[in-house]
Amino acid sequence: MSDRLPGFSTLAVHAGAQPDPTTGARATPIYQTTSFVFNDADHAASLFGLQAFGNIYTRIGNPTNAVLEERVAALEGGTAALAVASGHAAQVVVLQQLLQPGDEFIAARKLYGGSINQFTHAFKSFGWNVVWADPDDVASFERAVTPRTKAIFIESIANPAGSITDIEAISTVARKAGVPLIVDNTLASPYLIRPIDHGADIVVHSLTKFLGGHGNSLGGIIVDAGTFDWSTGGKYPMLSEPRPEYHGIRLQETFGNFAFAIACRVLGLRDLGPALSPFNAFMILTGIETLPLRMQKHCDNAKAVAEFLAGHPAVASVSYAGLPNDKYHQLARKYAPKGAGAVFTFSLKGGYDAGVSLVSKLQLFSHLANVGDTRSLVIHPASTTHSQLDDAAKIKSGAGPDVVRLSVGIEDKEDLIADLEQALGA
Ligand SMILES: *Cc1c(COP(=O)(O)O)cnc(C)c1O
Repeated sequence: MSDRLPGFSTLAVHAGAQPDPTTGARATPIYQTTSFVFNDADHAASLFGLQAFGNIYTRIGNPTNAVLEERVAALEGGTAALAVASGHAAQVVVLQQLLQPGDEFIAARKLYGGSINQFTHAFKSFGWNVVWADPDDVASFERAVTPRTKAIFIESIANPAGSITDIEAISTVARKAGVPLIVDNTLASPYLIRPIDHGADIVVHSLTKFLGGHGNSLGGIIVDAGTFDWSTGGKYPMLSEPRPEYHGIRLQETFGNFAFAIACRVLGLRDLGPALSPFNAFMILTGIETLPLRMQKHCDNAKAVAEFLAGHPAVASVSYAGLPNDKYHQLARKYAPKGAGAVFTFSLKGGYDAGVSLVSKLQLFSHLANVGDTRSLVIHPASTTHSQLDDAAKIKSGAGPDVVRLSVGIEDKEDLIADLEQALGA
């Protein structure tokens, strides 16, 4: 092998994988087993004491999942990763390592509807308090910082309108506040944006979306950038203080620049339990092999569809950062030069009723609550994903009553445009 560093497409196919040492199988096998035999009693004891790396039980780790973890860590430029059962599970596991009851975290207001719910209601019952900030106003993050702030959470390309977040500016606020920046990179995928290159300390994904890419398997992942010093000021006791369940070791001291990923595994996943099925890991790994090809096609189709909609008389406006006159176009050119993603919104002159009517007339676009499938998808957020918000909050989060969200798939763009044309015109 030459000493050239492999490029992104090569990593998407190969990172973390090698022919199976026992059978020679070239595709990564599905290690569909709950548990793994120890070599001897000493080996067992060292695994349980975190003195050696190895497999114990699939809730804590599995060889198929390990290939997925290594691959996504490589694609994102992190030191290590942990795969879990869903994107939401990734968010719980991350924040459990960072927040004690009564602590706060700052979150961008423009987020996946499910995350808004999870942060507002479920996390409140854990005593974790979310403070909202406006991703278009960096100073609003600065103003939200208090002595109890433990993290900042943003999306790189934000739901539902596909707006682009100024990751570097918000990472400067996080650094000044001495807290990690968590970036949900689901809508961009590392093919479009690598948040760690822009100052993120932790990246989370719903693997369910573009990484898996085929709308067939749930999964989530946490990537540790290895950039944050957890030992300062006793702010992060899960990482800096002795762990009674592991003979008093301190995770930061023992594991250095991948201590956060270890904490998520041995404290979060082990105790909360949202393990990813090895079968799902296999499906998602297979999806990732074609990520660069799919993502480019998703973006090219989305741009063509956005241009068509922008010229249609029934359409009031289109929010797609790939359009030259869009509010986020400069940020898109900086952060996502290969394409502005494939999830965006547009608003209809006919308001709420026109939105409901459009989703019922579309035939090639599936009306459902998902994004990042090979198939094109459509939803009317105000009556579904964002229906729990009041009207003002709907508008603030980009999901007003006249707004329709698309996730543009990898079909022929002419067919997608024809479907929209018949549904808008009829
Ligand atoms: C879907 C999604 C999630 C939640 O992921 P699940 O796998 O459905 O739990 C989180 N963030 C974003 C941006 C998403 O699109």
